[in-house]
Amino acid sequence: MKLYNTASRKIEVFKPLNPPEVTFYSCGPTVYDFTHIGHLRTYVNNDVLKRTLTFIGYKVKHVMNITDVGHLTGDSDEGEDKIEKGALKTGATVWELARVYTDYFISSIDDMNIIRPDIFSSATQHVPEFIELIKVLESKGFAYETDEAVYFEVKKFPDYGKLSGQKLEEKMTKAREEVRLDVKKRNPVDFTLWFKATGRFKDHVMRWPSAWGEGFPGWHIECSAMCMKYLGETVDIHAGGVDHIPVHHENEIAQSEAVTGKKFVRYWFHNEFLLADGQKMSKSLGNFYTIDDIKNRGVDPMALRLLFLQTHYRQIMNFTWDSLSAASNAYSKLVNYVYELNENRHPMSVRKPTSDVGFQEETMAYRQKFIDAISEDLQAPKAVAVLWEIVKSNISAEEKLNLILEIDGVLGLNLKNAKFIVFEIPEEIKKLAQEREEARIAKNFKKSDELRGAINQKGYDIKDTDKGYKISKK
Ligand code: AMP
Ligand code: ZN
Repeated sequence: MKLYNTASRKIEVFKPLNPPEVTFYSCGPTVYDFTHIGHLRTYVNNDVLKRTLTFIGYKVKHVMNITDVGHLTGDSDEGEDKIEKGALKTGATVWELARVYTDYFISSIDDMNIIRPDIFSSATQHVPEFIELIKVLESKGFAYETDEAVYFEVKKFPDYGKLSGQKLEEKMTKAREEVRLDVKKRNPVDFTLWFKATGRFKDHVMRWPSAWGEGFPGWHIECSAMCMKYLGETVDIHAGGVDHIPVHHENEIAQSEAVTGKKFVRYWFHNEFLLADGQKMSKSLGNFYTIDDIKNRGVDPMALRLLFLQTHYRQIMNFTWDSLSAASNAYSKLVNYVYELNENRHPMSVRKPTSDVGFQEETMAYRQKFIDAISEDLQAPKAVAVLWEIVKSNISAEEKLNLILEIDGVLGLNLKNAKFIVFEIPEEIKKLAQEREEARIAKNFKKSDELRGAINQKGYDIKDTDKGYKISKK
């Protein structure tokens, strides 16, 4: 398995610390609004990574946090707490809001056939762990307290910036231009570990007692603490969107490595963005679609998943309804194909659960081609192309079905539950098909061929079977 590592900016051979176990942490959502399909692109790609690792024999332990406190409207220390802001807007309590949006997130990932993590960890359930970690940072001289907060002192961690390749001096110059909200903050690049419920946060609803008075944790410490609690001081893979690289993940590295003196993450896995009309799809811009928007247009979420798979995870992807509609057609064809393969199976044949045993040479070659694509830094678009090659190949129906279903264990398109999808055939096509049938019966083959051509031109195929003619989408 080869994987691009943001830390080295190279595709590396993936070697977990303690094989066959792979520890995997995904930065989860901030639950202050509805999950949109931009988030889902990131989580689908995380899911494909996890399924691929499992497919090639690793045992993945997957943890995802739910940020229900402490993520401010700016990724650094500026702005308001997103959840509190959301609650003010809707009139719900912060706790209700977090619950509703957490549930929506989980049902959205279920819709996308994303395997749930082994552990979902909510920030609000781990405050004692955050406090503990901040205390260690304080005792090691990496943290200091002011009247308003407890900060991580960035200049005490000389490696700061290694993930994004930013020089600390450059960051300091940039940060100096920002408004300094706390005059006691030693340096503008220092970031908050603990916000005190005072000043701009005096009315903050979510608050806990601590050695520094009542307050709430910063977003970055949450991920360091929960990642290390469940997965150990060094984790194999840590995932997130590219927006997390310069601030959130730099800060996580600084906090964690300052505490342990060990490498925090072996492979950093970052997803590029989904855009809508050329702009980042985001809650704050309001240009986002949810999975319900997709379903309300009659599109199966699996068609969206197929659409996501057709762009490599490190490439920006622009969402359009036209591209979704094309993916939806392709998905329906795939489903119908699998359904027919399944229906036409010999009644006595047994569907094999795995394909390792007994595939013919040609089938094995297709299988290997798929593995080569997906294990080369998750070339999902290539892997999907191999799937279509398999569909069109001449390998036996039984082997084809087994191989497709095995591959689908990685792609996650839910093909094993394939139900025949009835295409709406337009009246015009039905009429042409009927005329062709009449011409064929009258042995007017020239005319029937012309009519077939007309049907083809309009994007449909017509096939004669024992039970009469059959129209399908091309
Ligand atoms: P958030 O709830 O903003 O913390 O985002 C949750 C995850 O979704 C993070 O890993 C983000 O980087 C990712 N994300 C947010 N917006 C997008 C987008 N438009 N496209 C892809 N990933 C996104
Ligand atoms: Zn995180």
